[in-house]
Amino acid sequence: MNKFEQLGLTESLLRAIIDLGFENPTEVQEKAIPMLLEKDIDLVALAQTGTGKTAAFGFPVIQKIDANNRNTQALILSPTRELCLQITNELKNYSKYEKGINVVAVYGGASITEQARDIKRGAQIIVATPGRMQDMINRRLVDISQINYCILDEADEMLNMGFYEDIVNILSTTPDEKNTWLFSATMPAEVARIGKQFMTDPIEITVGAKNS
Ligand code: ADP
Ligand code: MG
Repeated sequence: MNKFEQLGLTESLLRAIIDLGFENPTEVQEKAIPMLLEKDIDLVALAQTGTGKTAAFGFPVIQKIDANNRNTQALILSPTRELCLQITNELKNYSKYEKGINVVAVYGGASITEQARDIKRGAQIIVATPGRMQDMINRRLVDISQINYCILDEADEMLNMGFYEDIVNILSTTPDEKNTWLFSATMPAEVARIGKQFMTDPIEITVGAKNS
């Protein structure tokens, strides 16, 4: 039996997973998905590149948001435009059998007006670089005051790129009750500091060797 069927995912997600050709969950998916689906938790997941982190947060976030509500419910922060587009594309594939889920990518070097318009049409999930997200918040083009989930992807990379202040500012405008899921390959001091400041008793999972 396909091990994905034992993680608690809905029928429509399982169908999308078959289309993707994923046969079995990776280690981080197997550990994170059931926990994220079962309860509202804060999570720190340490796993190297290529271990399947996008689906580890992508499947649960798609399952947990309310497609009938057009407010932005989840924010995913990612270090680069390329990664934002990649994640957005993956999430669109994962949600191909869901109705009414809209994912919008927000990144620099492209029209902020067009991105704002896409958000206004109703984006339950926003995938953003910290710089452009901060810009949009400053210009009141986005409302993340109602989000339930905030995902920090490649947190170590975002902080290496100097996004500490943007991340702190962005997280400060989100509700205290939201859940934060932090994914990182390594755990340098700045990542730990973000975790301490914005997470409540996070569950920590580590895949493979801990290397920082
Ligand atoms: P990470 O974010 O950890 O670097 P990705 O989420 O980008 O990893 O996944 C790396 C690659 O593995 C992608 O091409 C993705 O489609 C593939 N992948 C993810 N999960 C699985 C799975 N369960 N089975 C097969 N391939 C997978
Ligand atoms: Mg990734």
